[in-house]
Amino acid sequence: MKKFFAAFFLLSIFMLSACKKEAVEPNQGAEITGIITGKVVTPNNRTPVRHALVFISTAKNLYSTYTDTEGNFSLTAAEGPQELHIQTGNGDKFRTILQVNVVANQTTALSDLARLNLVANLAYLAGSFDKIESILIDSLGYNAQSLNQYSIQNIAGIVNYDAVFINCGSYNTFVSTNTDTTLANYVAAGGSLYVSDFSMNFLTGLNALTDCQVPRYSGFIPDSTVCSRRTGTTSVVPQANIVSPELQYYLGKNTMSISYNLGGWERIQAIDNNYWETMVTDPADNSPLLIRTHNYTNSNNLPQFVGTRDSSMVTICHQLPSGHPITITVNANALPAHLAHGDSVGMCNNTSNAGWIYFTTFHNEHNGQISEDVKHILEFMILNL
Ligand SMILES: [Zn+2]
Repeated sequence: MKKFFAAFFLLSIFMLSACKKEAVEPNQGAEITGIITGKVVTPNNRTPVRHALVFISTAKNLYSTYTDTEGNFSLTAAEGPQELHIQTGNGDKFRTILQVNVVANQTTALSDLARLNLVANLAYLAGSFDKIESILIDSLGYNAQSLNQYSIQNIAGIVNYDAVFINCGSYNTFVSTNTDTTLANYVAAGGSLYVSDFSMNFLTGLNALTDCQVPRYSGFIPDSTVCSRRTGTTSVVPQANIVSPELQYYLGKNTMSISYNLGGWERIQAIDNNYWETMVTDPADNSPLLIRTHNYTNSNNLPQFVGTRDSSMVTICHQLPSGHPITITVNANALPAHLAHGDSVGMCNNTSNAGWIYFTTFHNEHNGQISEDVKHILEFMILNL
């Protein structure tokens, strides 16, 4: 266990530093280069996309960088007409490809804002307390389909969606063996879930206030991996620790203030750190406030795939020569070149290809009165599902 944490710590430090540097990866040889600059925004044309991966892949090299907190990037890449790729997450849900001309030894600015496109189908279950769809749709300018309780009783109801948002206070009383089977197969087959606060019920089952020793009724995630109780109080966590290197980069800081406007929120009492990645904690007791995993698996009768599939694109794990692997989604016709330099098909560090599950104790409010930091974290979850 100690070894694991040491390795994880080193990896985190390494990934953080790797994120901040522009990577020019001399796989096979030097090329004459120029610089492309631009700004990435969501379809509302005003929200900057932070920590978007921007890359140009040539037969010889992969040139990559990340946008800063203003959405700006500056990429050094091989001269000539190129495809500029912009993606968040694995690039399978949010990505844009632009035709650019890199002029040797010159800096060329994109003539327009680069809009990050949604290339997947998203859906949400409305809730009594959280309203993530107002950020997703009204604020960022993406589309999502509204579902009801019947949609999550059978895989057919959600199989066409790449990610489903389950708001706090959303049809929790419908948690049953049907929702268990549906969500279990959905995530194992690659579907991603955003789950907030009371909707923990969909993950570990109906719990309310019972002790963690008492088995939860229903739910599809093993109770042993995480346990929460509705013991949170109306309060402000003024210095919540941002422990995820990705989120630190995304927010440009290591602490944030989180306001819990209502009492009775799901406080995480116990967690298996091999199963979940903790991203934000309460310094008062180190309890996780935001967690995620892609470790859910099962061997049920899985649907062959969920969501949308563009057969002209493929998600791969690209090995930077520095040893840092990045998950990118590229044109299928570029696959042989990537395989030839040692890449593999599928996401990095996720051999089962399960979808992400994000669970957050804090969330949007129906009145929309949340801090900028909380809003940015919610945007991060949306763009990285
Ligand atoms: Zn590659």
